[in-house]
Amino acid sequence: MRKKIVAGNWKMNLDHAAGLQLYAEILKLINEDVKGQQKVVVCPPSIHITSLTQLSIGNSIVALGAQNCHQFNSGAYTGEISASMLKSSGADYVIIGHSERRAFFAEDDLVLAQKLDVVLENGLIPIFCIGETLEQRNAGTHFDIIESQLKEAAFHLDGSQFQKLVLAYEPVWAIGTGLTATPEQAQEVHAFIRAKVAEHYSSDLANELSILYGGSCNPKNAAELFSQKDIDGGLIGGASLKARDFIDIIKVFNS
Ligand code: PEP
Repeated sequence: MRKKIVAGNWKMNLDHAAGLQLYAEILKLINEDVKGQQKVVVCPPSIHITSLTQLSIGNSIVALGAQNCHQFNSGAYTGEISASMLKSSGADYVIIGHSERRAFFAEDDLVLAQKLDVVLENGLIPIFCIGETLEQRNAGTHFDIIESQLKEAAFHLDGSQFQKLVLAYEPVWAIGTGLTATPEQAQEVHAFIRAKVAEHYSSDLANELSILYGGSCNPKNAAELFSQKDIDGGLIGGASLKARDFIDIIKVFNS
């Protein structure tokens, strides 16, 4: 059975006290309202991870993740954070290839391939983001773009490595814009991704892969998106900063 996952990406928001408060609220609501097998991943700014870990000791539903890491384990890279540092701070997941990293920090397929390697080497789970821009969708090249993002950054992994990944389809035009892919548009791309993974690895591996949707997901549209056959949850930006909204999205998977 594929894992159902809802991950929150806080981006560069919330100081330490506000981060602790939001996380405490999320944990409280999870205890009260979440009744299922779903996994919840919270990705705060990395500097908060150690303190948040202390709050969630013993909670098996929630894990912490980072939003990025450097492609090397250590060295003279002033200002950077390595996968091993994140692991030792209490993170279990790392978002890799978010469109904001690709756009604002010029992260290309080569560097993302290195990041996937180092994240896996350090025993962390990458949440690997792929998705097309509005121009690419309008030009009808979105499937080619997604296939190329997969091939160039992730298909060098062998099956035993690739099966550890979580994928996130995030159409760039839907991130933080209030525009959401329709459930049909999202399902179409998720099915395409699964087919490409089956072609490159195996149908068994593809069937076990969790593929999340991200892009203006909220409590109103989550149920319909997550009911699609190939959508296994969401990567949530804005709505993960409000505990109630985040929990209402997670509750879609309540049994
Ligand atoms: C994201 O940043 O990954 C994201 C999906 O953001 P939002 O939900 O705000 O569109």
